[in-house]
Amino acid sequence: MRKFQCRYCSHIYEEAIGDADTGLPPGTLWDDIPDSWMCPDCGATKDDYDEIL
Ligand SMILES: [Zn+2]
Repeated sequence: MRKFQCRYCSHIYEEAIGDADTGLPPGTLWDDIPDSWMCPDCGATKDDYDEIL
């Protein structure tokens, strides 16, 4: 499972955890999140996230 971090507010999306606030259940893969999804903290788009390696 991968992790991604918002470059503006440092919010972290973890595939293993999902994001209950935006309706993403645990195990939701980054590639399966719709392009219209936004950072729950600052409203940035998926393009504004970088994978944490
Ligand atoms: Zn953000």
